[in-house]
Amino acid sequence: MKLNNESEPIPEEILEENIRIKEKIAQKLSLKDLKRIAEKNESEIVSSRKVMSNAYIRDAYVAEYAKRKANGVCQLCGHKAPFSTSAGVPYLECHHIEWISNGGSDTIENTVALCPNCHRKMHVLNLISDKEKLIMAGK
Ligand SMILES: [Zn+2]
Ligand SMILES: [Zn+2]
Repeated sequence: MKLNNESEPIPEEILEENIRIKEKIAQKLSLKDLKRIAEKNESEIVSSRKVMSNAYIRDAYVAEYAKRKANGVCQLCGHKAPFSTSAGVPYLECHHIEWISNGGSDTIENTVALCPNCHRKMHVLNLISDKEKLIMAGK
């Protein structure tokens, strides 16, 4: 399973989409091929979960700061969070402007809070114009 990079937390939506793609592929395989790939995949799924939880632990304080600073507003599109959590906190996701694997730092200057749509956009397109906007928002 190869997604984004090792240090960046994987957005759940992207993970789910990858699972759906895999399901479609899996449905077309013979039982023999399916077994072979399924046995190989087991360890890969475990390691990708580990990456996600490591990233989460490392990011906790920086992430909380980024979310508080955003005050419920996406730092890319400027719209309010699409919904609130059961605790009443506006739901935003944290993002490293410069991905850790590309030399970015896990600091408050490099971390912004985005709505789920914008977060996905950054991972699919990562446009320079959007990055510049986020750098300004982080200041
Ligand atoms: Zn947004
Ligand atoms: Zn991100």
